[in-house]
Amino acid sequence: MRTVHVHTGDPYDILIERGILDRCGAYVKELSQAEKVVVVTDDNVAPHYFWRVLNSLEQNGLSVKPFIYPAGEASKHLGTVGELYQVLADFRMTRKDVIVALGGGVCGDMAGFAAATYLRGIGFIQVPTSLLAQVDSSVGGKTGVDLPQGKNLVGAFHQPLAVLIDPDTLNTLPEPFVTDGMGEVIKYGCIKDAAFFEKLETESFADHIEDIIETCVSIKRDVVSRDEREKGERMLLNFGHTLGHAIEKLGDFSAITHGKAVAIGMVLMARAGEQNGYTEKGTAERIIRLCEKYQLPTEWNAAFSDMAEAAKGDKKTAGSDINLVLLKTIGDSFTLRLPLEELNGFIDTTAPNISLEE
Ligand code: MG
Repeated sequence: MRTVHVHTGDPYDILIERGILDRCGAYVKELSQAEKVVVVTDDNVAPHYFWRVLNSLEQNGLSVKPFIYPAGEASKHLGTVGELYQVLADFRMTRKDVIVALGGGVCGDMAGFAAATYLRGIGFIQVPTSLLAQVDSSVGGKTGVDLPQGKNLVGAFHQPLAVLIDPDTLNTLPEPFVTDGMGEVIKYGCIKDAAFFEKLETESFADHIEDIIETCVSIKRDVVSRDEREKGERMLLNFGHTLGHAIEKLGDFSAITHGKAVAIGMVLMARAGEQNGYTEKGTAERIIRLCEKYQLPTEWNAAFSDMAEAAKGDKKTAGSDINLVLLKTIGDSFTLRLPLEELNGFIDTTAPNISLEE
C-alpha cells in the first residue's frame, strides 16, 4: 500500500491500494467512533461497488443507510443536499457518525459539503472511483455544490478522515472518464514536475497507474498543505482552469467535460504565455502532443472575446483583476495578476476562431 500523509489543520492519510474498497469498514472503525454510516453514491457507481462497501461496513458492526442520487453534475445542487440532510436526520446520525462518499467528483463535493454542514460538521471518508476524483478533487478539502449562476458557488473547506483510493475501480470506467482525469494529471506535470511530464510523454499510463495517482496526490498535498485556504500557491492548481471553466460555461456544462476543458485551457494559456513573452517557446506544442496522446482535445471553436467574457465570472477574479496561472516552462508555474479588461488581448493569440494546429 502507498500512503500519502496530508498535514493540513486536520491531518489525514490518502491510502492507495488495489482492493481497499473491501476494507472500508475497518478504516471507518479505526478513524472514528461511528456506529452509523450513510454511504452517498450515484446510480452509475452503486451497481458496481455499493454492495462491497456495504458488506465491509456491516462486517465491522456498522449500521448503514445508502443515499443514491442520479449520476451527473446536474445533481450537484442544494436540492439534492436537502434530500441527503433528511436521510441523515431520519437515520439520527450524530457527530460521531460518518458519511462515506463513494463515487466521482460530484459525489465527493456534495457528500463532503453535507458532512461539513450537518450538525456543523461530521466526519467523512472519500472513496473516489473516477481518475479525476482520485488524482484531484478528493484531495484538498474543498466541498460544495453548484448554483444556477455557476459551479461550486456554495461550499466549505472540510478535510476528510481519510481518502481510500482503489485503482481497480478505474477498470470499470468507460474510457472517456479515464481520458477526462488525464487532463488534471497532465496539469500536475505542467505546474510542478517536469520529470513526471516526461514520463507521461514516454511511457504508458496503464503500466504506472499507482505511480501516477501517488505523484499527483503528493503534488496536490504539498501545495494544499502550504496554502489550505487558497490565498497564494494553491492558485497554481488552477492552471488551465480559468479558460477551462469559461469553455465549460460556454458549453452550458454539458458540451464538454471538465478534464477536456482544462486540457484546452492549458494549451491556450501556454500559447498566450509564449505570445506575451512569459513562457518558453515550444511549451504549448509539448502540451498539445501529450494531450493528443491521451485523446484530449486541444482546441475549441469559440471567439477569444467570448472566452474572456465568460472567464470574468470565475471565482479567481479579484475585484477588477484576474489571477492567471502561467508556465515559465514545463514544471515551473507562477501567477500573474491582470486587469480584467486586458484579459481578451492577453489570450487572443491571433484572430478569433483560429485553429490551434499549425
Ligand atoms: Mg479541476
